[in-house]
Amino acid sequence: MKNFNFKTASNTKEATKLASGRATFLAGGMTLLPAIKLRLAAYSDLINIKKIKGLSGIKVSSKSLRIGATTTHAEVSSSKEVGKSIPSLAVLAEGIGDPQVRNRGTIGGSIANNDPAADYPSACLALNATIHTNKRKILADKFFKGMFETDLKKGELIESVEFEVPEKSAYAKFPNPASRYAIVGVYVARLKKEIRVAITGVESCVFRCKKLEDALSSNFSSSAIDSVNISSKGFNDDIHASADYRAHIIKVMAKKAVSSC
Ligand SMILES: Cc1cc2nc3c(=O)[nH]c(=O)nc-3n(C[C@H](O)[C@H](O)[C@H](O)COP(=O)(O)OP(=O)(O)OC[C@H]3O[C@@H](n4cnc5c(N)ncnc54)[C@H](O)[C@@H]3O)c2cc1C
Repeated sequence: MKNFNFKTASNTKEATKLASGRATFLAGGMTLLPAIKLRLAAYSDLINIKKIKGLSGIKVSSKSLRIGATTTHAEVSSSKEVGKSIPSLAVLAEGIGDPQVRNRGTIGGSIANNDPAADYPSACLALNATIHTNKRKILADKFFKGMFETDLKKGELIESVEFEVPEKSAYAKFPNPASRYAIVGVYVARLKKEIRVAITGVESCVFRCKKLEDALSSNFSSSAIDSVNISSKGFNDDIHASADYRAHIIKVMAKKAVSSC
């Protein structure tokens, strides 16, 4: 069914009230509209959240960087604040899709959608992010539940994403040459208290790689990755890359990320 009502919410309260039954939020529409067009999803109402004041924008402090849910990938990639406090996040945003996608797609939409090959979920895990919704705060470690599945409840709206400012960080992606989605994406972050490594594109959901985290905690250098054994068991195996190839590329991308930290 491609017929739906289009409603624009002017505040979060109105948005959540409208998002009952078979309604859903519409942000950049970069995932939702193709899904409807291809008849993979059908809704009675699309609730446009782009006009809600306060859902967009970037705020920085010495400890954290907070990005409003409807901030576009292009705004993140060109932000001086992001470039100064977490440059790897600007690099990630710049590598998403193409200019059209970056100028429409939003950080909140990307995280809510939780595509197994999306870039932002890896940043959330590696940078120990907190997802602020209209109801609560959710740690990234508890937010990403499975393929296209998150901890969000029906009608719960992401308002912003707050990232811990790391001492060092970098994101290295081996992209699909057509879509730019990650075949393998590795985000490495040296935080004040711990090293985190998050991987996207490889399983049905983004995950942290304990083996790489342990190796880099003992020795934060690309050579520390040489002796890490990455098993391909459970990895995606498809027309883009075999599971074994993905396991190999994880180490290549992890080394690249650590070298650029
Ligand atoms: C050609 C193409 C290439 C792409 N390449 C990449 C890539 O390289 N890397 C990458 O990571 N992504 C890529 N994407 C996806 C892109 O980043 C989208 O922006 C993103 O997946 C969805 O964001 P959106 O704002 O368009 O959300 P929408 O499509 O509007 O919504 C997506 C889902 O999130 C929900 N939602 C939206 N906002 C909120 C909110 N604030 N709170 C709760 N739920 C919400 C919607 O209800 C819907 O279910 C690509 C997309 C296309 C079309």
